[in-house]
Amino acid sequence: MMTLATLLNLISVNEEFLLLLFDYDKVELANMNRLFFQPHQAGLSKVQAAEFTLRNINPDVVFEVHNYNITTVEHFEHFMNRISNGGLEEGKPVDLVLSCVDNFEARMAINTACNELGQTWMESGVSENAVSGHIQLMIPGESACFACAPPLVVASNIDEKTLKREGVCAASLPTTMGVVAGILVQNVLKFLLNFGTVSFYLGYNAMQDFFPTMSMRPNPQCDDRNCRKQQEEYKKKAATRPAQEAAPEEEEEIVHEDNEWGIELVSEVSEEELKNSSGPIPDLPEGITVAYTVPKKISVQPALRCWEVLSVSMETGTAHWKLRK
Ligand SMILES: [Zn+2]
Repeated sequence: MMTLATLLNLISVNEEFLLLLFDYDKVELANMNRLFFQPHQAGLSKVQAAEFTLRNINPDVVFEVHNYNITTVEHFEHFMNRISNGGLEEGKPVDLVLSCVDNFEARMAINTACNELGQTWMESGVSENAVSGHIQLMIPGESACFACAPPLVVASNIDEKTLKREGVCAASLPTTMGVVAGILVQNVLKFLLNFGTVSFYLGYNAMQDFFPTMSMRPNPQCDDRNCRKQQEEYKKKAATRPAQEAAPEEEEEIVHEDNEWGIELVSEVSEEELKNSSGPIPDLPEGITVAYTVPKKISVQPALRCWEVLSVSMETGTAHWKLRK
């Protein structure tokens, strides 16, 4: 919902925009830490409350809300139908599906629908301990789907409900959610308006201010047969595409000839370096796996530490140094 509020703030008036919302939950007072719902909305369905708040932000947006659980058979059919027919022009598919859910079952349902329809979607999530999150772009056939590299909890068929400990509530930080929601919307804009790079996977580790990105190829042995079908179709299409001609290199115009302050651009970490650096994997309970690891810090001894002062001459103002063994 935070994602939607951010998104709607950016849409100019007069622009045609249609939002389809799907959620089965009701607003509870415990949700107030999400900074989106208001106490007087407690008891309303989340989609109803969201529509009310979002309409106030941008009254020109058209809403279609569905208060049901997409993972049940009957609702799943309806959900698929609305994705493939509920676009701006009725009968046409939507431009993009965004998922901001808190469980694997719902993610897998969206994945199944999008693989069957060939629908591009963006998945987002915040970890149970609330200090990391991720955004994943999935283009059926071209990039890994959610089932191509399932989290261990899904691959091992463990009921995720058993992972939750009695009386222990998962941590929740509105700041982490705000950051992840902001990056998701940033990627939505880049994707829909076709500018910049939209990474297939972008992680966020709040503890280390670490944002790993990676591209994820589809798994030819994916459990989802529609994913495998989409992969075949993508390969066929790619084979018929004419090889891209190298565009003639244009000489860039030099804007500033002098460099009074001696400012230099320093290259960033290469992809190879990123690939090679991976940190230790912590000991986790069964069914939980890390999405990425933080690279080991390479400690560099400051050069001066290798030298020792032998003597300092007060007369000449010079010092004698010796290289430490
Ligand atoms: Zn797959």
